[in-house]
Amino acid sequence: MINYNEPLFRPPSEAYSLILQVSLGCAWNKCAFCEMYSSKQFRLRPEEEIFAEIESLAHHSDQIRKVFLADGNAVVLSFDKLSRILDKLKATFPKLNRVSAYALPRDIEAKTDEELQILADKGLKLLYVGIESGDNELLDRINKGEDYKSTNLALQKARQAGIKLSVMILNGLGGQHYSQQHAINSAKLVNEIQPEFLSTLVLSYPHGEEHFKQKFKGEFLPLNTIELIAEMRVFIETLELDNTVFRSDHASNYLILRGNLNRDKQELLNRINGVLNDPANAKLRPEWMRGL
Ligand code: SF4
Repeated sequence: MINYNEPLFRPPSEAYSLILQVSLGCAWNKCAFCEMYSSKQFRLRPEEEIFAEIESLAHHSDQIRKVFLADGNAVVLSFDKLSRILDKLKATFPKLNRVSAYALPRDIEAKTDEELQILADKGLKLLYVGIESGDNELLDRINKGEDYKSTNLALQKARQAGIKLSVMILNGLGGQHYSQQHAINSAKLVNEIQPEFLSTLVLSYPHGEEHFKQKFKGEFLPLNTIELIAEMRVFIETLELDNTVFRSDHASNYLILRGNLNRDKQELLNRINGVLNDPANAKLRPEWMRGL
């Protein structure tokens, strides 16, 4: 029996995974656009509580194939603790084939190459990283606490260890002032990383636009729907990927895009150009459906 500490978040692709809270909240909790864990004080959960929850599900051992470690950056746990949790999961759920978690680049960087390799061997197969942007100026303005280089180095390190990466970019994050540089530098960073999965979400304002503007360092002029899609065109045009599953189908997106990059790049650009050339007749997700 698991008593979740709410709010609880997981990536859409973890809908059928066991969600295990090994930490609560986000250790950083300072990004200007993010209110996911603003109601929670970050803390690590005691190992005995985590183990008790795992044991309480032992009777489902045959069904559990995927586990997602929550909350916001579970990879912040020490190598030793993560290692023991992965061992416990494998011993309890013999059919387990994937453990995943959200991670910040600095959490990855804090582990040695060898430690990451051991964690991967013990089942940590996929990390979700909210890169948000590859533009250093914008990353500073939204207080991400990471830059192009730190993100690139950490994610390359994870890949070297054999851990797959699912990265996220926030469409519209820099508003009108930073749209171009955000799109281009984000694509350049993603090109260096060559992640297995890439998704884009549209910037939203859970506590209102004014609240976001107060946290944004500088002037923020939001993009309208067509400008958001134009930013996506620059981003996709600049992407040079070998084999990345691309999804822009989160509830926040106005234009649903899915494909494999670069294979489907021209097809995606054709769809975007169709909208930009004839916005009045474009089939976009209506505003009232965003977030559903
Ligand atoms: S690191 Fe992630 S979870 Fe934490 S505040 Fe930033 S976006 Fe939110």
